[in-house]
Amino acid sequence: MADPTPDGRPRPNVVILGAGYAGLAAAKAVRRHAGSALDVTLVDRTPDHVLRTELYEVDEIAKPLRPRRTWAVPIAEVLSEREAAFVHGTVTGIDLSSRTVRLEGSTLPFDYLIVCLGSVPSYFGIPGARENAEEVYSLSGAERLAARIVALTKTRGGPGAAPLRVVVAGGGSTGTEVSAEIATAKWGEIAGVAAPAPAVTLLTGPTPLLDGFSPALIRHARALLEEAHVEVRENTPVVRAEPGTLTLKDGSSVPFDVAVWCAGVEAPPVVAQLPVEHGKGKRLKVTPYLELPDRPGVFAVGDVIDYANPGTGVLVPGTAQAALAGAPVAGYNVVARHEGRRMKRFSYHEKGVIVSLGLGKAVGRAVGLTLWGRPAYVLKSLVEAEYSLAVERG
Ligand SMILES: Cc1cc2nc3c(=O)[nH]c(=O)nc-3n(C[C@H](O)[C@H](O)[C@H](O)COP(=O)(O)OP(=O)(O)OC[C@H]3O[C@@H](n4cnc5c(N)ncnc54)[C@H](O)[C@@H]3O)c2cc1C
Repeated sequence: MADPTPDGRPRPNVVILGAGYAGLAAAKAVRRHAGSALDVTLVDRTPDHVLRTELYEVDEIAKPLRPRRTWAVPIAEVLSEREAAFVHGTVTGIDLSSRTVRLEGSTLPFDYLIVCLGSVPSYFGIPGARENAEEVYSLSGAERLAARIVALTKTRGGPGAAPLRVVVAGGGSTGTEVSAEIATAKWGEIAGVAAPAPAVTLLTGPTPLLDGFSPALIRHARALLEEAHVEVRENTPVVRAEPGTLTLKDGSSVPFDVAVWCAGVEAPPVVAQLPVEHGKGKRLKVTPYLELPDRPGVFAVGDVIDYANPGTGVLVPGTAQAALAGAPVAGYNVVARHEGRRMKRFSYHEKGVIVSLGLGKAVGRAVGLTLWGRPAYVLKSLVEAEYSLAVERG
């Protein structure tokens, strides 16, 4: 934290909610631009910066000797006290009128706010989905899923055991990655029993597989899913989930041992409740400066925003790549707003996309090229390693 002001008066403070991709990068950007002119406080309910993009690796998460630090880096290791004070706490409310954030058991006043609280699974009101399916949008969810597959493999494994039936709902990049990873992992080795590979079914729901991706990329993804023995069933919206059974819109049932919900995300409840303009999935509408309309000094970035690129009108995707692109702009704009300078407009240019498909293979698009198989996977690993290194270096 900054030294006291010469006249002993409190320094204006910036509170940043969420220490994921957007929040951590925004905190560093504010400090970079503000020097010692502003206090910066970063809040998160976990003491770690979670590498959420890697949570599809449920088999790696299941390995008892794999350090948890691979996915959850302690905040103290990636954020110095000089950059920001860290508060470990859960945000239970944001009062934009009194400019305070409610935490469990305390209140935090702010002069400037950046909301970076990410997203939570969307269950679309489907009965039983939340209760009967696992998820990989949080580290605790991915850990629970990994533990469940290992436990079932142990109890049901052995010579001649029937394959575990794993059903993944949602044919976007998360569902595709999770299906391929589970289908190709060596669960028997991890659980220490002889066990066949799980039988994985991917239900794409009402939207086609990898909707929005290029036809070439989808073609390669289909081929790699087939190689991974993932059965893809399209146009299969789930309307109900019960223990052991998903019911589809056409009335048919899909039995499962493990169901994984990968059908999309929405704003967390504390954000959904804010009395401001919301977009898809209760995400926050923001101006091109990443500020909430008519709320000067309150910014948002990352999965939590609903923002269309100026000019193209294309929605900025809910990705770590977009969160990391927006965070420096939000950080800069907080300081510009404080100093009465002109703010920067946020315009997003995607560098590429890569979807992992198990067995060290992936499909992707980068620098105008479609990549698939091993080269795409190597590129994905390089991108992940580069981000991990950047976080380590702070
Ligand atoms: C399996 C998987 C694979 C993915 N792969 C990719 C990929 O390859 N490339 C890519 O670009 N994107 C990928 N994504 C998407 C990417 O992870 C998200 O877009 C990204 O995490 C968004 O960053 P964020 O900072 O907005 O939110 P997060 O990274 O989710 O951070 C939000 C933070 O807010 C904290 N928080 C939430 N609620 C509270 C509360 N009430 N109180 C206190 N703290 C709170 C959380 O603990 C968390 O630390 C993937 C996502 C998943 C699930």
